[in-house]
Amino acid sequence: MSRKPLARYRRIVIKIGSALLVDRSTGLKKAWLDAMCADIAALKQGGVDVLVVSSGAIALGRSVLDLPKGALKLEESQAAAAVGQIALARAWSESLSRDSIVAGQILLTLGDTEERRRYLNARATISQLLKIGAVPIINENDTVATSEIRYGDNDRLAARVATMTGADLLILLSDIDGLYTAPPHLDPNAQFLETIAEITPEIEAMAGGAASELSRGGMRTKIDAGKIATTAGCAMIIASGKTDRPLSAIEGGARSSWFAPSGTPVTARKTWIAGQLQPAGELHVDDGAVAALGAGKSLLPAGVRRIVGLFGRGDTIAVIAPSGREIARGLAGYDAEEARQITGRKSSEIEAILGYPGRAAMVHRDDLVMTGPSNSKSEKQEKDAAHA
Ligand code: GLU
Repeated sequence: MSRKPLARYRRIVIKIGSALLVDRSTGLKKAWLDAMCADIAALKQGGVDVLVVSSGAIALGRSVLDLPKGALKLEESQAAAAVGQIALARAWSESLSRDSIVAGQILLTLGDTEERRRYLNARATISQLLKIGAVPIINENDTVATSEIRYGDNDRLAARVATMTGADLLILLSDIDGLYTAPPHLDPNAQFLETIAEITPEIEAMAGGAASELSRGGMRTKIDAGKIATTAGCAMIIASGKTDRPLSAIEGGARSSWFAPSGTPVTARKTWIAGQLQPAGELHVDDGAVAALGAGKSLLPAGVRRIVGLFGRGDTIAVIAPSGREIARGLAGYDAEEARQITGRKSSEIEAILGYPGRAAMVHRDDLVMTGPSNSKSEKQEKDAAHA
């Protein structure tokens, strides 16, 4: 993937990690924020739409409230977020106004992006902000999010915002300058990867699980974000934000990892399906079905071996290959109970089993999007690699 100047992108989502904005003892890093806003202003002057996904609410709230070190209880972090978010939004608004830019705050919950109607509604508000030239400052609504129903990390939230708004570039700024073949603080032989053409299982394996004290995400959530973004045709950069004006630094050739967008971006509806964070169930399929899906066909009951979960018709389900790897996501054509009854059966038998002529496919190809290695060759290669 060639590195092109940031000004050549049309719409850029910038995710900023807590550690960049908030210092544990001194609070908000105002000078850094002002410099960041100067970078944003320069991009906007060049005609680029800019959206910011800003972490830091909980970290800032902790520092304002002077909460002790260590893990917070849910209600403590919700209160910290309530205190911190108001300060965070004000800081962004003030810093952007130095360049006469208006900021608009958007707080999202997981449901706002998982439920289609709410998703379209949030998207319309963000589009309107961009239309009037404002910079949306987005965060998760941590004051109401509970542990089961939340993003928890802003990497995936930012990827979701990028795909939701049709951005062509997502920049993840944190204290990590990019992807290494192994965690660099643990492995002295870790090699830096400058460009990633495709997020393969090998790339995923490099992500590990580490996170720094202030941020929830680690490389894991950044790679998950990369999958969401690149599938939708959006490029991604992981870069360090520890310098002043990190966007200028990227332009100047600073070390960063660039992830190429997928060559065949899917439709907006399929983007929404692929980006669902919590599929309601799983359809475990055989090798024949894996090959058929790879060739762009629908998923028929005959190729399904096992159903997991309680889902309704129209819910998002994950399709799992015999290797255990997710290969696709789609909208279920049947609810879980019916799906169980017709599992492994021919489509022509459906009427006799269910008592009515149902649809031939368990998941129709129009409702299905590939999210993992699709062809039988890569499945085989994986198996060979596993045995090697
Ligand atoms: N939403 C959290 C906050 O603003 C940050 C989540 C993250 O670090 O990714 O404090």
